[in-house]
Amino acid sequence: MMRFSGLRVLKEGLTGNKGWTPHWRDPAPKPEYDIVIIGGGGHGLSTAYYLAREHGLTNVAVLEKGYIGGGNVGRNTTIVRANYFLPGNSEFYSHSLKLWENLENDLNYNVMHSQRGLINLFHSDGQRDAFARRGNAMINQGDDAILLDREGVRKHLPYLDFDNTRFPIYGGLLHPRGGTARHDAVAWGYARGADQRGVDLIQNCEVTGIDIENGVVKGVQTTRGAIRAKKVGIVVAGRSGQVAAMAGMRLPIESHVLQAFVTEGIKPVIDHVISFGMGHFYISQSDKGGLVFGGDLDFYASYASRGNLPMTEHVMEAGMTLMPMIGKAKVLRSWGGIMDMTPDGSPIIDKTHVDGLYIDCGWCYGGFKAVPGSGFSFAHLIATDRHHEPASRFRLDRFRTGRGLMDEEGTGSQHNLH
Ligand SMILES: Cc1cc2nc3c(=O)[nH]c(=O)nc-3n(C[C@H](O)[C@H](O)[C@H](O)COP(=O)(O)OP(=O)(O)OC[C@H]3O[C@@H](n4cnc5c(N)ncnc54)[C@H](O)[C@@H]3O)c2cc1C
Repeated sequence: MMRFSGLRVLKEGLTGNKGWTPHWRDPAPKPEYDIVIIGGGGHGLSTAYYLAREHGLTNVAVLEKGYIGGGNVGRNTTIVRANYFLPGNSEFYSHSLKLWENLENDLNYNVMHSQRGLINLFHSDGQRDAFARRGNAMINQGDDAILLDREGVRKHLPYLDFDNTRFPIYGGLLHPRGGTARHDAVAWGYARGADQRGVDLIQNCEVTGIDIENGVVKGVQTTRGAIRAKKVGIVVAGRSGQVAAMAGMRLPIESHVLQAFVTEGIKPVIDHVISFGMGHFYISQSDKGGLVFGGDLDFYASYASRGNLPMTEHVMEAGMTLMPMIGKAKVLRSWGGIMDMTPDGSPIIDKTHVDGLYIDCGWCYGGFKAVPGSGFSFAHLIATDRHHEPASRFRLDRFRTGRGLMDEEGTGSQHNLH
Protein backbone atom coordinates (compact mmCIF):
# COMPACT_ATOMS: atom_id res chain seq x y z
CA MET A 1 0.00 0.00 0.00
CA MET A 2 1.51 3.36 -1.05
CA ARG A 3 1.32 5.88 1.78
CA PHE A 4 1.74 9.63 1.44
CA SER A 5 4.00 11.58 3.78
CA GLY A 6 6.30 14.59 3.72
CA LEU A 7 9.29 12.25 3.66
CA ARG A 8 7.85 10.37 0.70
CA VAL A 9 7.32 13.59 -1.28
CA LEU A 10 10.94 14.56 -0.55
CA LYS A 11 12.29 11.16 -1.56
CA GLU A 12 10.27 11.07 -4.78
CA GLY A 13 11.32 14.62 -5.58
CA LEU A 14 14.97 13.64 -5.26
CA THR A 15 14.65 10.41 -7.21
CA GLY A 16 12.73 11.55 -10.28
CA ASN A 17 9.16 10.83 -9.06
CA LYS A 18 9.41 7.25 -10.31
CA GLY A 19 7.96 5.53 -7.24
CA TRP A 20 4.35 6.74 -7.38
CA THR A 21 1.81 4.06 -8.21
CA PRO A 22 -1.79 4.47 -9.49
CA HIS A 23 -4.27 5.49 -6.80
CA TRP A 24 -6.54 2.53 -7.49
CA ARG A 25 -6.66 -0.66 -9.57
CA ASP A 26 -8.72 -1.09 -12.74
CA PRO A 27 -10.31 -4.50 -12.15
CA ALA A 28 -12.70 -6.34 -14.47
CA PRO A 29 -16.11 -6.86 -12.85
CA LYS A 30 -16.52 -10.21 -11.08
CA PRO A 31 -19.73 -12.17 -11.74
CA GLU A 32 -20.85 -11.79 -8.12
CA TYR A 33 -20.33 -9.53 -5.09
CA ASP A 34 -21.84 -9.37 -1.62
CA ILE A 35 -22.66 -5.72 -2.18
CA VAL A 36 -22.92 -3.61 -5.31
CA ILE A 37 -23.00 0.18 -5.03
CA ILE A 38 -24.43 1.94 -8.09
CA GLY A 39 -22.71 5.32 -8.57
CA GLY A 40 -19.07 6.28 -8.07
CA GLY A 41 -19.68 9.82 -6.82
CA GLY A 42 -18.72 11.11 -3.39
CA HIS A 43 -21.53 9.28 -1.61
CA GLY A 44 -21.04 5.94 -3.41
CA LEU A 45 -17.30 5.95 -2.79
CA SER A 46 -17.59 6.94 0.87
CA THR A 47 -20.24 4.23 1.36
CA ALA A 48 -17.87 1.62 -0.05
CA TYR A 49 -15.01 2.95 2.07
CA TYR A 50 -16.98 2.78 5.33
CA LEU A 51 -18.44 -0.65 4.44
CA ALA A 52 -14.86 -1.88 4.34
CA ARG A 53 -13.41 0.17 7.18
CA GLU A 54 -16.26 0.07 9.70
CA HIS A 55 -17.87 -3.27 8.89
CA GLY A 56 -15.07 -5.34 7.32
CA LEU A 57 -17.18 -5.87 4.17
CA THR A 58 -14.79 -5.91 1.23
CA ASN A 59 -16.47 -8.11 -1.37
CA VAL A 60 -17.95 -4.89 -2.71
CA ALA A 61 -18.05 -3.25 -6.15
CA VAL A 62 -18.77 0.38 -7.00
CA LEU A 63 -20.21 0.62 -10.52
CA GLU A 64 -19.71 4.00 -12.18
CA LYS A 65 -21.12 4.74 -15.62
CA GLY A 66 -18.48 7.39 -16.36
CA TYR A 67 -15.28 8.09 -14.48
CA ILE A 68 -14.63 8.62 -10.78
CA GLY A 69 -15.17 12.28 -9.92
CA GLY A 70 -17.05 13.14 -13.13
CA GLY A 71 -20.39 13.80 -11.42
CA ASN A 72 -21.46 16.40 -8.91
CA VAL A 73 -18.69 15.46 -6.52
CA GLY A 74 -16.26 17.15 -8.93
CA ARG A 75 -18.62 19.98 -9.93
CA ASN A 76 -19.67 21.66 -6.71
CA THR A 77 -18.59 24.89 -5.02
CA THR A 78 -16.99 22.84 -2.20
CA ILE A 79 -18.67 24.42 0.82
CA VAL A 80 -18.50 22.28 3.97
CA ARG A 81 -20.57 23.34 7.01
CA ALA A 82 -22.77 22.15 9.87
CA ASN A 83 -25.23 25.02 10.24
CA TYR A 84 -28.55 23.26 9.77
CA PHE A 85 -31.48 24.20 11.96
CA LEU A 86 -33.95 21.33 12.15
CA PRO A 87 -33.67 18.18 14.28
CA GLY A 88 -32.88 15.36 11.90
CA ASN A 89 -30.61 17.49 9.75
CA SER A 90 -28.59 19.21 12.47
CA GLU A 91 -27.26 16.06 14.16
CA PHE A 92 -26.51 14.47 10.79
CA TYR A 93 -24.44 17.40 9.46
CA SER A 94 -22.78 17.80 12.83
CA HIS A 95 -21.61 14.17 12.64
CA SER A 96 -20.50 14.67 9.04
CA LEU A 97 -18.40 17.73 9.95
CA LYS A 98 -16.66 15.75 12.69
CA LEU A 99 -15.72 13.12 10.10
CA TRP A 100 -14.40 15.89 7.85
CA GLU A 101 -12.20 17.13 10.65
CA ASN A 102 -10.23 13.90 10.74
CA LEU A 103 -10.65 12.95 7.09
CA GLU A 104 -7.14 13.66 5.90
CA ASN A 105 -5.60 11.51 8.63
CA ASP A 106 -8.18 8.85 8.10
CA LEU A 107 -7.68 8.64 4.32
CA ASN A 108 -3.97 9.53 4.38
CA TYR A 109 -4.91 11.97 1.62
CA ASN A 110 -4.75 15.73 1.30
CA VAL A 111 -8.33 16.80 0.59
CA MET A 112 -7.40 20.43 1.37
CA HIS A 113 -10.10 20.78 3.99
CA SER A 114 -9.89 24.40 5.06
CA GLN A 115 -11.99 25.63 7.99
CA ARG A 116 -11.75 29.26 7.02
CA GLY A 117 -15.14 30.23 8.46
CA LEU A 118 -18.49 30.77 6.79
CA ILE A 119 -20.44 34.02 7.16
CA ASN A 120 -24.15 34.14 6.29
CA LEU A 121 -25.09 37.79 5.87
CA PHE A 122 -28.42 39.23 6.92
CA HIS A 123 -30.06 42.39 5.70
CA SER A 124 -33.14 42.98 7.87
CA ASP A 125 -34.30 42.68 11.49
CA GLY A 126 -36.38 39.64 10.60
CA GLN A 127 -33.38 37.87 9.07
CA ARG A 128 -31.32 38.75 12.14
CA ASP A 129 -33.88 37.01 14.36
CA ALA A 130 -33.91 33.94 12.13
CA PHE A 131 -30.10 33.71 12.14
CA ALA A 132 -29.93 34.26 15.91
CA ARG A 133 -32.30 31.31 16.28
CA ARG A 134 -30.29 29.20 13.89
CA GLY A 135 -27.07 30.07 15.73
CA ASN A 136 -28.63 29.03 19.05
CA ALA A 137 -29.77 25.74 17.52
CA MET A 138 -26.25 25.12 16.19
CA ILE A 139 -24.71 25.80 19.60
CA ASN A 140 -27.25 23.50 21.26
CA GLN A 141 -26.24 20.81 18.79
CA GLY A 142 -22.60 21.25 19.87
CA ASP A 143 -21.48 23.19 16.82
CA ASP A 144 -20.17 26.73 16.71
CA ALA A 145 -21.88 29.99 15.78
CA ILE A 146 -21.17 33.68 16.47
CA LEU A 147 -23.67 36.42 15.73
CA LEU A 148 -21.87 39.44 14.25
CA ASP A 149 -23.24 42.94 14.02
CA ARG A 150 -22.49 45.19 11.06
CA GLU A 151 -19.13 46.32 12.45
CA GLY A 152 -18.26 42.72 13.29
CA VAL A 153 -18.84 41.75 9.66
CA ARG A 154 -16.86 44.77 8.46
CA LYS A 155 -13.85 43.59 10.46
CA HIS A 156 -13.84 40.25 8.64
CA LEU A 157 -15.04 41.38 5.20
CA PRO A 158 -14.07 45.05 4.74
CA TYR A 159 -14.43 44.87 0.95
CA LEU A 160 -18.22 44.36 0.95
CA ASP A 161 -20.47 47.25 -0.02
CA PHE A 162 -21.93 48.35 3.34
CA ASP A 163 -23.01 51.89 2.65
CA ASN A 164 -24.06 52.45 -0.91
CA THR A 165 -26.12 49.41 -1.65
CA ARG A 166 -29.71 48.39 -2.27
CA PHE A 167 -29.65 45.81 0.56
CA PRO A 168 -27.61 47.20 3.50
CA ILE A 169 -25.79 44.61 5.57
CA TYR A 170 -27.13 44.37 9.14
CA GLY A 171 -24.74 41.65 10.30
CA GLY A 172 -23.87 38.00 9.80
CA LEU A 173 -23.78 34.59 11.40
CA LEU A 174 -20.21 33.31 11.57
CA HIS A 175 -19.69 29.54 11.61
CA PRO A 176 -15.93 29.30 12.29
CA ARG A 177 -15.66 25.57 11.55
CA GLY A 178 -17.32 25.97 8.16
CA GLY A 179 -15.12 26.19 5.07
CA THR A 180 -14.17 24.38 1.89
CA ALA A 181 -12.34 21.28 0.64
CA ARG A 182 -10.95 20.26 -2.73
CA HIS A 183 -13.89 18.38 -4.23
CA ASP A 184 -12.20 15.96 -6.61
CA ALA A 185 -9.52 15.13 -4.04
CA VAL A 186 -12.34 13.96 -1.77
CA ALA A 187 -13.50 11.55 -4.48
CA TRP A 188 -9.95 10.36 -5.14
CA GLY A 189 -9.17 9.96 -1.43
CA TYR A 190 -12.24 7.82 -0.78
CA ALA A 191 -11.67 5.86 -4.00
CA ARG A 192 -8.10 5.09 -3.01
CA GLY A 193 -9.10 4.18 0.55
CA ALA A 194 -11.84 1.82 -0.65
CA ASP A 195 -9.59 0.23 -3.28
CA GLN A 196 -6.83 -0.34 -0.74
CA ARG A 197 -9.30 -2.27 1.41
CA GLY A 198 -10.28 -4.54 -1.48
CA VAL A 199 -13.31 -2.79 -3.00
CA ASP A 200 -13.48 -3.06 -6.83
CA LEU A 201 -14.06 0.31 -8.51
CA ILE A 202 -15.48 -0.38 -11.96
CA GLN A 203 -15.57 2.65 -14.23
CA ASN A 204 -17.37 2.90 -17.59
CA CYS A 205 -19.96 0.47 -16.28
CA GLU A 206 -23.52 1.77 -16.51
CA VAL A 207 -26.26 -0.04 -14.64
CA THR A 208 -29.14 -0.60 -17.06
CA GLY A 209 -31.41 -2.83 -14.98
CA ILE A 210 -31.96 -4.16 -11.47
CA ASP A 211 -32.72 -7.88 -11.13
CA ILE A 212 -35.45 -8.66 -8.62
CA GLU A 213 -37.05 -12.04 -7.91
CA ASN A 214 -40.03 -12.44 -5.58
CA GLY A 215 -39.37 -9.05 -3.99
CA VAL A 216 -35.68 -9.78 -3.35
CA VAL A 217 -32.78 -8.11 -5.18
CA LYS A 218 -30.53 -10.52 -7.08
CA GLY A 219 -28.10 -8.20 -8.87
CA VAL A 220 -27.83 -5.72 -11.70
CA GLN A 221 -27.58 -5.61 -15.48
CA THR A 222 -24.78 -3.42 -16.75
CA THR A 223 -23.09 -2.38 -19.98
CA ARG A 224 -20.31 -4.80 -18.92
CA GLY A 225 -22.63 -7.74 -18.28
CA ALA A 226 -24.81 -9.04 -15.46
CA ILE A 227 -23.45 -8.87 -11.90
CA ARG A 228 -25.11 -10.80 -9.07
CA ALA A 229 -25.26 -9.27 -5.61
CA LYS A 230 -26.90 -10.00 -2.26
CA LYS A 231 -27.36 -6.30 -1.58
CA VAL A 232 -27.49 -3.29 -3.88
CA GLY A 233 -27.24 0.40 -2.95
CA ILE A 234 -28.45 3.14 -5.30
CA VAL A 235 -26.36 6.33 -4.87
CA VAL A 236 -26.64 8.17 -8.17
CA ALA A 237 -27.56 11.77 -7.19
CA GLY A 238 -29.21 13.50 -10.19
CA ARG A 239 -30.01 10.16 -11.83
CA SER A 240 -31.82 8.75 -8.78
CA GLY A 241 -35.27 8.90 -10.38
CA GLN A 242 -34.10 6.97 -13.46
CA VAL A 243 -32.21 4.24 -11.59
CA ALA A 244 -34.93 3.77 -8.95
CA ALA A 245 -37.43 3.35 -11.81
CA MET A 246 -35.47 0.20 -12.77
CA ALA A 247 -36.81 -1.27 -9.52
CA GLY A 248 -40.33 -0.01 -10.17
CA MET A 249 -40.03 2.98 -7.83
CA ARG A 250 -41.28 6.50 -8.43
CA LEU A 251 -39.25 8.79 -6.19
CA PRO A 252 -40.40 12.16 -4.83
CA ILE A 253 -37.45 13.74 -6.62
CA GLU A 254 -37.00 16.21 -9.46
CA SER A 255 -33.64 16.70 -11.18
CA HIS A 256 -32.58 20.31 -11.72
CA VAL A 257 -29.43 22.01 -13.02
CA LEU A 258 -27.27 24.04 -10.66
CA GLN A 259 -24.48 26.16 -12.10
CA ALA A 260 -21.12 27.22 -10.70
CA PHE A 261 -18.60 29.82 -11.86
CA VAL A 262 -14.88 30.42 -11.42
CA THR A 263 -12.81 33.48 -12.26
CA GLU A 264 -9.20 33.76 -13.32
CA GLY A 265 -6.74 33.35 -10.44
CA ILE A 266 -6.15 36.55 -8.47
CA LYS A 267 -4.18 37.38 -5.33
CA PRO A 268 -5.73 36.23 -2.03
CA VAL A 269 -8.63 38.54 -1.18
CA ILE A 270 -11.52 36.46 0.20
CA ASP A 271 -10.50 34.35 3.17
CA HIS A 272 -13.98 33.16 4.21
CA VAL A 273 -16.98 31.58 2.58
CA ILE A 274 -19.64 34.29 2.27
CA SER A 275 -23.30 33.94 1.50
CA PHE A 276 -25.54 36.86 0.53
CA GLY A 277 -28.90 37.08 2.30
CA MET A 278 -30.90 38.92 -0.36
CA GLY A 279 -30.28 36.70 -3.36
CA HIS A 280 -28.87 33.27 -3.88
CA PHE A 281 -25.14 33.98 -4.07
CA TYR A 282 -22.21 32.42 -2.23
CA ILE A 283 -18.49 32.80 -2.82
CA SER A 284 -15.08 31.64 -1.69
CA GLN A 285 -11.58 31.77 -3.15
CA SER A 286 -9.77 28.62 -4.15
CA ASP A 287 -6.15 27.97 -3.22
CA LYS A 288 -5.26 28.60 -6.89
CA GLY A 289 -6.76 32.08 -6.56
CA GLY A 290 -9.98 31.68 -8.55
CA LEU A 291 -13.15 33.16 -7.06
CA VAL A 292 -15.59 30.25 -6.91
CA PHE A 293 -19.25 31.20 -6.73
CA GLY A 294 -22.76 30.06 -7.44
CA GLY A 295 -26.42 30.84 -7.03
CA ASP A 296 -29.76 29.14 -7.45
CA LEU A 297 -31.16 26.32 -9.56
CA ASP A 298 -32.06 27.06 -13.17
CA PHE A 299 -35.73 26.58 -12.18
CA TYR A 300 -36.88 23.79 -14.45
CA ALA A 301 -36.30 20.04 -14.40
CA SER A 302 -33.41 18.93 -16.61
CA TYR A 303 -30.63 16.36 -17.01
CA ALA A 304 -28.31 18.88 -18.69
CA SER A 305 -24.97 19.46 -17.06
CA ARG A 306 -24.65 23.06 -18.15
CA GLY A 307 -26.94 25.96 -17.36
CA ASN A 308 -28.55 28.97 -18.97
CA LEU A 309 -27.90 32.69 -19.14
CA PRO A 310 -30.79 34.10 -17.04
CA MET A 311 -29.40 32.44 -13.89
CA THR A 312 -25.87 33.50 -14.87
CA GLU A 313 -27.11 37.09 -15.05
CA HIS A 314 -28.83 36.82 -11.67
CA VAL A 315 -25.68 35.44 -10.02
CA MET A 316 -23.47 38.15 -11.52
CA GLU A 317 -25.90 40.86 -10.42
CA ALA A 318 -25.99 39.52 -6.85
CA GLY A 319 -22.17 39.42 -6.79
CA MET A 320 -21.92 43.01 -8.05
CA THR A 321 -24.46 44.22 -5.47
CA LEU A 322 -22.58 42.59 -2.63
CA MET A 323 -19.00 43.33 -3.61
CA PRO A 324 -18.65 45.67 -6.60
CA MET A 325 -14.90 44.90 -6.77
CA ILE A 326 -15.78 41.50 -8.24
CA GLY A 327 -16.63 43.23 -11.53
CA LYS A 328 -12.92 43.48 -12.29
CA ALA A 329 -12.37 39.70 -12.24
CA LYS A 330 -12.83 37.78 -15.50
CA VAL A 331 -14.99 34.66 -15.38
CA LEU A 332 -12.94 31.74 -16.64
CA ARG A 333 -15.43 28.87 -16.67
CA SER A 334 -18.98 27.90 -15.74
CA TRP A 335 -20.57 24.48 -15.60
CA GLY A 336 -23.61 22.70 -14.20
CA GLY A 337 -24.50 19.59 -12.23
CA ILE A 338 -27.72 17.62 -11.87
CA MET A 339 -29.31 18.06 -8.45
CA ASP A 340 -31.68 15.50 -6.91
CA MET A 341 -34.26 17.80 -5.31
CA THR A 342 -36.73 16.48 -2.72
CA PRO A 343 -39.91 18.35 -1.77
CA ASP A 344 -38.62 19.23 1.74
CA GLY A 345 -35.01 19.84 0.73
CA SER A 346 -33.74 17.05 2.99
CA PRO A 347 -32.21 13.74 1.90
CA ILE A 348 -33.26 10.09 1.90
CA ILE A 349 -31.20 7.20 3.33
CA ASP A 350 -33.46 4.19 3.58
CA LYS A 351 -34.38 0.64 2.63
CA THR A 352 -36.77 0.22 -0.27
CA HIS A 353 -39.78 -2.06 -0.82
CA VAL A 354 -37.35 -4.60 -2.37
CA ASP A 355 -35.41 -6.78 0.09
CA GLY A 356 -31.69 -6.02 -0.15
CA LEU A 357 -32.17 -2.82 -2.17
CA TYR A 358 -31.23 0.44 -0.43
CA ILE A 359 -31.27 4.05 -1.55
CA ASP A 360 -29.30 7.17 -0.66
CA CYS A 361 -30.39 10.29 -2.55
CA GLY A 362 -32.16 13.66 -2.40
CA TRP A 363 -29.10 15.70 -1.40
CA CYS A 364 -30.40 18.66 -3.34
CA TYR A 365 -27.61 21.21 -3.78
CA GLY A 366 -25.97 20.49 -0.42
CA GLY A 367 -24.60 16.97 -0.64
CA PHE A 368 -20.87 17.65 -0.82
CA LYS A 369 -20.57 18.44 2.88
CA ALA A 370 -22.59 15.29 3.50
CA VAL A 371 -20.16 12.94 1.71
CA PRO A 372 -18.51 11.53 4.87
CA GLY A 373 -21.71 11.41 6.96
CA SER A 374 -23.83 9.95 4.19
CA GLY A 375 -21.31 7.22 3.38
CA PHE A 376 -20.94 6.37 7.06
CA SER A 377 -24.71 6.17 7.67
CA PHE A 378 -25.55 4.39 4.42
CA ALA A 379 -22.82 1.80 5.03
CA HIS A 380 -24.27 1.26 8.51
CA LEU A 381 -27.75 0.72 7.07
CA ILE A 382 -26.56 -1.69 4.37
CA ALA A 383 -24.31 -3.65 6.73
CA THR A 384 -26.64 -3.92 9.73
CA ASP A 385 -30.12 -3.32 8.30
CA ARG A 386 -30.58 -0.71 11.03
CA HIS A 387 -30.63 3.07 10.61
CA HIS A 388 -27.59 4.93 11.86
CA GLU A 389 -28.87 7.28 14.58
CA PRO A 390 -27.80 10.67 13.09
CA ALA A 391 -29.49 9.75 9.79
CA SER A 392 -32.48 7.98 11.25
CA ARG A 393 -35.01 10.59 10.13
CA PHE A 394 -34.13 10.44 6.43
CA ARG A 395 -37.03 8.10 5.68
CA LEU A 396 -38.53 7.72 2.24
CA ASP A 397 -42.09 7.29 3.50
CA ARG A 398 -42.22 10.79 5.03
CA PHE A 399 -43.32 12.09 1.64
CA ARG A 400 -46.25 9.63 1.58
CA THR A 401 -47.35 9.98 5.20
CA GLY A 402 -46.35 13.62 5.76
CA ARG A 403 -44.83 12.62 9.11
CA GLY A 404 -41.24 13.66 9.71
CA LEU A 405 -40.85 16.18 6.92
CA MET A 406 -37.78 18.39 7.44
CA ASP A 407 -38.45 21.60 5.56
CA GLU A 408 -35.17 23.32 6.33
CA GLU A 409 -35.91 26.47 4.35
CA GLY A 410 -39.53 26.69 5.49
CA THR A 411 -40.53 27.14 1.87
CA GLY A 412 -43.07 24.33 1.49
CA SER A 413 -43.14 21.70 -1.17
CA GLN A 414 -41.85 23.81 -4.02
CA HIS A 415 -38.55 22.49 -5.35
CA ASN A 416 -37.30 25.70 -6.79
CA LEU A 417 -37.56 27.49 -3.46
CA HIS A 418 -35.19 25.17 -1.63
C1 LIG B 1 -22.72 23.65 -9.11
C2 LIG B 1 -22.89 22.88 -7.85
C3 LIG B 1 -22.52 23.45 -6.65
C4 LIG B 1 -22.68 22.74 -5.46
N1 LIG B 1 -22.18 23.27 -4.31
C5 LIG B 1 -22.21 22.54 -3.16
C6 LIG B 1 -21.58 23.06 -2.00
O1 LIG B 1 -20.96 24.13 -2.03
N2 LIG B 1 -21.65 22.32 -0.86
C7 LIG B 1 -22.32 21.15 -0.81
O2 LIG B 1 -22.39 20.56 0.28
N3 LIG B 1 -22.89 20.61 -1.93
C8 LIG B 1 -22.84 21.28 -3.10
N4 LIG B 1 -23.38 20.75 -4.25
C9 LIG B 1 -24.11 19.47 -4.17
C10 LIG B 1 -23.22 18.24 -4.20
O3 LIG B 1 -22.22 18.37 -5.19
C11 LIG B 1 -24.09 16.99 -4.46
O4 LIG B 1 -25.20 16.98 -3.60
C12 LIG B 1 -23.30 15.69 -4.25
O5 LIG B 1 -22.05 15.74 -4.88
C13 LIG B 1 -24.13 14.53 -4.79
O6 LIG B 1 -23.61 13.28 -4.42
P1 LIG B 1 -22.47 12.50 -5.25
O7 LIG B 1 -21.17 13.13 -5.01
O8 LIG B 1 -22.57 11.07 -4.88
O9 LIG B 1 -22.97 12.74 -6.75
P2 LIG B 1 -22.25 12.41 -8.12
O10 LIG B 1 -20.81 12.76 -8.10
O11 LIG B 1 -23.09 13.02 -9.20
O12 LIG B 1 -22.34 10.82 -8.16
C14 LIG B 1 -23.36 10.06 -8.75
C15 LIG B 1 -22.70 9.13 -9.74
O13 LIG B 1 -23.64 8.16 -10.19
C16 LIG B 1 -23.29 7.83 -11.52
N5 LIG B 1 -24.42 7.18 -12.17
C17 LIG B 1 -25.61 7.72 -12.52
N6 LIG B 1 -26.37 6.79 -13.11
C18 LIG B 1 -25.67 5.64 -13.13
C19 LIG B 1 -25.93 4.33 -13.63
N7 LIG B 1 -27.08 4.02 -14.22
N8 LIG B 1 -24.95 3.38 -13.48
C20 LIG B 1 -23.78 3.68 -12.88
N9 LIG B 1 -23.47 4.91 -12.41
C21 LIG B 1 -24.42 5.87 -12.53
C22 LIG B 1 -22.93 9.19 -12.13
O14 LIG B 1 -22.16 9.05 -13.32
C23 LIG B 1 -22.19 9.86 -10.99
O15 LIG B 1 -20.79 9.73 -11.08
C24 LIG B 1 -23.25 21.44 -5.47
C25 LIG B 1 -23.60 20.85 -6.68
C26 LIG B 1 -23.42 21.57 -7.88
C27 LIG B 1 -23.76 20.91 -9.19
